[in-house]
Amino acid sequence: MTILCYHTVDPGWESDLSVTTRDFSAQCRWLQARRKMVPLSAALTSVDKYGRVGRGMIAVTFDDGLTGIYDHAFEHLLQREIPATVFVVAGTLTGDARADWVDDPPPGGLTTLTREQILELHQAGVTFGSHTLSHPDLTAIDERECETELEHSKTILEDLLREKVNVLAYPRGLHDDRVRAIAQRTGYTHAVGTSRTASNGRFGIPRVGIYRGEGVGALRIKDSRWYLRVRTSRLYRSVKAQRTRDEER
Ligand SMILES: [Zn+2]
Repeated sequence: MTILCYHTVDPGWESDLSVTTRDFSAQCRWLQARRKMVPLSAALTSVDKYGRVGRGMIAVTFDDGLTGIYDHAFEHLLQREIPATVFVVAGTLTGDARADWVDDPPPGGLTTLTREQILELHQAGVTFGSHTLSHPDLTAIDERECETELEHSKTILEDLLREKVNVLAYPRGLHDDRVRAIAQRTGYTHAVGTSRTASNGRFGIPRVGIYRGEGVGALRIKDSRWYLRVRTSRLYRSVKAQRTRDEER
């Protein structure tokens, strides 16, 4: 099982985080034809004590709740009947947070989903999780702030959707022992990161990022049995560090 982490599909934004419509459409077609696509909730029920998910299935998630999901991604998901989960920065819904957390925003700035768009997607079967209130590095803020980020974002989304919001995605995939404990304490059942942190139980489930310029070939590699294990292993990190040093020479 692989949990994929996209950000957005947006032809007007040239960024690693923005997959082209053409690539996304090809990826959806490939996924539908070659893999068993499941909702994130089904993936999470197969998580073992190490944070690893069962084999053979794929779940699709989007971080940041950007408008491109509504404008460009959803029609392809719908056409291929691919379930998806979107992690929303809840402060953008109350006006308390601005979408200013990316390094290379598009001209005119990033736009995030409105309450109406979220409800429309929800009605169509898209599920939602929290991506905190304001997208901070949770490992760098104090305990109280971290609790507020996790607790309030959950409440805002639950009030809007009128259902429980049980899953959290850590901003930039960053978490540590303290953050995972707060996620558990504030009522989440699971939390997902990225492949930059190792599997760590229900509150440290890694996902595989899909970025601009990556076609179907990258999907095939990133879904391979060894990819996540290698990616989160110490050996891989040391090899990567060595390579970075070599490139600097
Ligand atoms: Zn994010």
